[in-house]
Amino acid sequence: MSKTNFDFDVIVIGAGYGGFDAAKHAAEHGLNVAIVESREMGGTCVNRGCVPSKALLAASGKVRELADADHLELFGIHAAPVRFERQKIASHANNLVSNVRNNLTKTLERSGVTILKGHGRLEGAQKVGLRETNGLDRILTAKDVIIATGSDPFVPPGIKTDGRTVFTSDEAVLLEWLPRWIAIIGSGYIGLEFADVYTALGCEVTMIEALDRVMPTFDPDITKIASRSLIAGRDIDAKSGLLATNVQPGCPVKIELSDVKTREVTEELEVDAVLVATGRVPRSNDLNLDSMGVETTRGFIPIDASMRVVVGGKPLKNLWAVGDVTGKLMLAHTAAAQGTVAIDNILGNTREIDYRSIPAATFTHPEISSVGLSEEQAKILAEEEKFKLGVVRSYFKANSKALAELESDGLMKLLFRKDSGEILGAHIFGLHAADLIQEVANSLTRKQSVVDLSKEVHTHPTLSEVVEVAYKQAAQQVLKS
Ligand SMILES: Cc1cc2nc3c(=O)[nH]c(=O)nc-3n(C[C@H](O)[C@H](O)[C@H](O)COP(=O)(O)OP(=O)(O)OC[C@H]3O[C@@H](n4cnc5c(N)ncnc54)[C@H](O)[C@@H]3O)c2cc1C
Repeated sequence: MSKTNFDFDVIVIGAGYGGFDAAKHAAEHGLNVAIVESREMGGTCVNRGCVPSKALLAASGKVRELADADHLELFGIHAAPVRFERQKIASHANNLVSNVRNNLTKTLERSGVTILKGHGRLEGAQKVGLRETNGLDRILTAKDVIIATGSDPFVPPGIKTDGRTVFTSDEAVLLEWLPRWIAIIGSGYIGLEFADVYTALGCEVTMIEALDRVMPTFDPDITKIASRSLIAGRDIDAKSGLLATNVQPGCPVKIELSDVKTREVTEELEVDAVLVATGRVPRSNDLNLDSMGVETTRGFIPIDASMRVVVGGKPLKNLWAVGDVTGKLMLAHTAAAQGTVAIDNILGNTREIDYRSIPAATFTHPEISSVGLSEEQAKILAEEEKFKLGVVRSYFKANSKALAELESDGLMKLLFRKDSGEILGAHIFGLHAADLIQEVANSLTRKQSVVDLSKEVHTHPTLSEVVEVAYKQAAQQVLKS
């Protein structure tokens, strides 16, 4: 029982990373917390997202490396033909999921969080309805309620899934079979990561993108160099400007492709499988949001900078939302950060999130990463705020470590203000880009000038010198202007 008249100080609905970090942070600060989860603890990231997909990428990445005889030959290495067992790769992912999920559950239990299994919903202010897995329905009260219900894969109209021949990332992470020919609909980060896995394991891929270029959400310069290696250099046939208007599961799977502008059917394909990777939709429709008058935008719950749910333009006092369901940079670390920020605000320690400094990564081989503004957004800001935009490029082919690894295909693009040297954004394609972006993200958070950053010593020889070179080039431009 809480010290107040409520059952709990905080009830969190949803135990993904957003809910987990909120509940743990709250319990560590002495609050009496319950977390409600209707499926597996850990949510999308642990069970159907980051964790299993990175395990598959790790294993298939090794297969790709060992099977690349031409590349190994350059080191003077002659490897035997590579063999792999699909089932064991799938088990590696599955075991990792179980481990991470168990650790996360134990962490919550040790922190004193009450775990409630069942479906949660709002029942008016400071009340949560809980339908337990055994059918029992009860109402619980809490001083503060946090919605952290996440998201589900989006399946466009006209596409029928059966979970076996036409499926989403929910099933793809299980790697139940390896289709000889798979069509991947969508060339965002999820589509790209699975194309990496499937091509490494010998599948032929057709990538279908509705927008006018593949990888439309990435920086155009990064796309140019990345698509050369991640798409053109592999067994991938990429098609853009085409909508998959009709997909029927079966053997074969039948796909009807239509021109995105005219909507005329232009092509029909018959493939072994289809992965639908067309984005994600918030899970908010069964939360009884009406009981609090919450109006969503395409299902996303509106929040203010402190994570309070906004109704009629005003933040509610005791209702909060974090993670994918809020639609801000739908990533695990965003959800986790929002969770702790919500709790800090509940505790009276005012905090906000600077979304611009949150990095994002695609774990292909090589990786892609970014933080901050795109060049297009930076140009608009430069015009609005009347400053000169600086853009520099640093190449992996000039980096000793990348050359030693014979992995010198890569580029970093840095966007900064020429007046103050403040970083506005960075985009990287190349070996370990996901790790490299963190340094830039930290500098961006601290609003440091490239002039100061250019004086920081980087270890030689490391890939971090790619970032150092970019800072040095940028500093020269700032000092000259
Ligand atoms: C294939 C794939 C790969 C990804 N890779 C990465 C990556 O490498 N890095 C990264 O940062 N992000 C990655 N993501 C995104 C990441 O998984 C999500 O951003 C993250 O899981 C969002 O966390 P969340 O807490 O908001 O929601 P979720 O993780 O979706 O958790 C929400 C939880 O709430 C539960 N729930 C929903 N409604 C109710 C209810 N009414 N009652 C009780 N429980 C409920 C759900 O069952 C779920 O467990 C990936 C996603 C996918 C699909």
